Amino acid sequence: MAKKDYYETLGVSKSASESEIKKAYKRLAMKYHPDKNQDNKAEAEAKFKEVKEAYEILTDPQKKAAYDQYGHAAFEQGQSGGAGGFGGFAGGVFDDIFSDFFGGGRGRSQTASRGNDLQYNITLTLDEAAAGVSKEIKVPTWVSCDTCHGQGAEKSSDVVTCNTCHGAGAVQMRQGFFAVQQECPTCHGRGKVVKNPCKKCHGEGRIQKTKTLSVTIPAGVDTGNRIRLSGEGEAGLNGAPAGDLYVQVQVKQHDIFERDGTNLHCEIPINIALASLGGEVEVPTLNGKVSLTIPAETQTGKMFRLRGKGVKSLRGSTIGDLYCHVVVETPVNLTSKQKELLKELGESFKADKNSKHSPKEKSFFDKVKKFFG
Ligand SMILES: [Zn+2]
Ligand SMILES: [Zn+2]
Repeated sequence: MAKKDYYETLGVSKSASESEIKKAYKRLAMKYHPDKNQDNKAEAEAKFKEVKEAYEILTDPQKKAAYDQYGHAAFEQGQSGGAGGFGGFAGGVFDDIFSDFFGGGRGRSQTASRGNDLQYNITLTLDEAAAGVSKEIKVPTWVSCDTCHGQGAEKSSDVVTCNTCHGAGAVQMRQGFFAVQQECPTCHGRGKVVKNPCKKCHGEGRIQKTKTLSVTIPAGVDTGNRIRLSGEGEAGLNGAPAGDLYVQVQVKQHDIFERDGTNLHCEIPINIALASLGGEVEVPTLNGKVSLTIPAETQTGKMFRLRGKGVKSLRGSTIGDLYCHVVVETPVNLTSKQKELLKELGESFKADKNSKHSPKEKSFFDKVKKFFG
């Protein structure tokens, strides 16, 4: 079968810029990712190899120039031998792409076997999130094998220099006119091979284990915050660096407080007597109760701000406020005595011809009158 044009493979024009090529590559790499192609892995892998090859040629100025001039002929010799050099599909290749595009910032030679990052979801109470807390978490993961200390070998003398690359981890391959460096297929870039694999970890240098970790959660975290524990992810293969562990924070809804960033809001129900005459009311804060003065003639919806009774900001030292929203509650389950008193109060209101005691009510009915009049 004739080889497909590299530009066609990536779906870009011959005049495409490097960033256009990159963009096309990223899109196709996602499309043919093994996780998204469980049903037809082999086909996706083949497609991906084509895409990666096209990308590698077209983003290398020298190779691109040769390809533009000679087409596939520029690379024909050694291509079949070099094909293996594109490496394992599901492993290193993808790590490379994702660190390239998302700024993983890892050393290239280490990407292939670096351990996976892990995510742990933690749920905190508002009090814990506001004050900060230390939590013990149990994470099932891969840890470095304690028998061989991650070497993967029975004895340290069983780790020997790779014969294929003589310890360099890379080999020269010819691709048409060019000699290119590729990861050594024997040792996968490690430069060393293991003669007698460790029995405990079967030569992988790591074992599965549930790790107990203590996580310090800083004061002020909120839902969506993520804490990175560097090197606490899965151990890499054969002593390669471990990935990172991300602790994803979720803060539970509080019974009383509603959080808005560093501020807190709560509802303070008061009865009509207190609302009318004023007085003191105890309100809750995250650090215990405080007394709040309710002035006489307080209406529903009135808001009182308690400065500094909110949540500390995660970055910086500012502390938010607590907003108390007053709700005047209509009394229920009245005794006959209370009903009597209210009846009496009601009568006195009726006698109030100028609605002095209910100005809102008066203005409302004045407007209604105007509307129909
Ligand atoms: Zn071992
Ligand atoms: Zn090697």
